[in-house]
Amino acid sequence: MELTKRQEAILEIVKNNGPITSEQIADKLSLTRATLRPDLAILTMSGLLEARPRVGYFYSGKSPDRIVAQKLRRVQVGKVHSHPVVVKDDTPVHDAIVGMFLEDCGTLFVVDENSFLQGVVSRKDLLRLSIGGYQDLHKLPVGVVMTRMPNVITTNTEESLWDAAKKLVAHEVDALPVVSSANTASGVRGIKVVGRLSKTNITRYFVELGESL
Ligand code: ADP
Repeated sequence: MELTKRQEAILEIVKNNGPITSEQIADKLSLTRATLRPDLAILTMSGLLEARPRVGYFYSGKSPDRIVAQKLRRVQVGKVHSHPVVVKDDTPVHDAIVGMFLEDCGTLFVVDENSFLQGVVSRKDLLRLSIGGYQDLHKLPVGVVMTRMPNVITTNTEESLWDAAKKLVAHEVDALPVVSSANTASGVRGIKVVGRLSKTNITRYFVELGESL
């Protein structure tokens, strides 16, 4: 977040003299209160200053970087994830590769007949087979090559985007299934896939955030 020279001057005055009224700040800068109003609004909305009625402005003590970091940690996965691309565990590897091209995604989530998460299959899992000389990719099911539960790293819509991004980095994977627990009509419990959080989602959010600051 970049401050104008005047906003920095206001910040400095409040830091050294707060609590201080807008009139007193205006006096010190030889400006009118009306001129300062938009700057004071920006500084309070961004969290750098706090305003208390009939008392005045305080310096919040938070650096602009800390405020951005706090904002980042408050964003939840549910705000940025995209729709999941799923295949059944008996889908032939050939069809999964075609699915990846058609859906333009690098990770497929593998589900059973109840639509419960069974595993994850990535580009490299499929490439490995293709160069491994395995002939019949039309017959081999993805269930054989996927990374299986419980080894799948997941997230959920309420998790902070920050924590989910850290999982992507720590586990060196490109995407996480966004999951929630569910029951079938007959009472079988499992994990449903409700979304896909990929590095692309995070990059897109990062770009939007940069535009809005
Ligand atoms: P790529 O194959 O394009 O490098 P990844 O880095 O995501 O994609 O996948 C690397 C390995 O990690 C693959 O074997 C894949 O099955 C596995 N994998 C991918 N996503 C997950 C996940 N969310 N949890 C656990 N393993 C995963």
